[in-house]
Amino acid sequence: TEETLVLVKPDGVARGLTGAILARIEAKGYSLVDIRLVEPDRETLERHYAEHEGKPFYEPLLEFMMSGPSVAIRLAGNRVIEGFRSLAGTTDPTTAAPGTIRGDLGRDWGLKVQQNLVHGSDSPESAARELDIWF
Ligand code: ATP
Repeated sequence: TEETLVLVKPDGVARGLTGAILARIEAKGYSLVDIRLVEPDRETLERHYAEHEGKPFYEPLLEFMMSGPSVAIRLAGNRVIEGFRSLAGTTDPTTAAPGTIRGDLGRDWGLKVQQNLVHGSDSPESAARELDIWF
């Protein structure tokens, strides 16, 4: 079994979609190991998004992530890292496949791609690093 960090981002919490997103995660059979409501400070987000520093969407992304609470989840399951990313769908909800969280619940935000409901770690190394930041 494997662990990953999932975040329900501020748009998901603000829109009242935390329960709907958790229902999909639980229906898939993944286990909630830990879960908490978080209001990350800038330093936490700088660590989390270090790989994106300097990119055009970096500052707006940090602002967005500080715009309201998120839900952080330590999630466990067989191949959960890859599996959750598949459940989440591609980064831009405008074109994410139907059946995915972003495809079904994400709105077309025009250029504001940063508002895409969820985050999931993309590798075992990222998962270990990110779980250490959020838990
Ligand atoms: P995540 O890591 O959040 O699961 P991802 O791996 O699909 O999503 P990354 O490329 O790691 O996306 O980017 C991290 C986050 O930065 C995205 O989830 C999105 O919120 C934002 N982002 C990425 N690319 C853009 C962009 N071109 N414009 C605006 N925001 C972006």
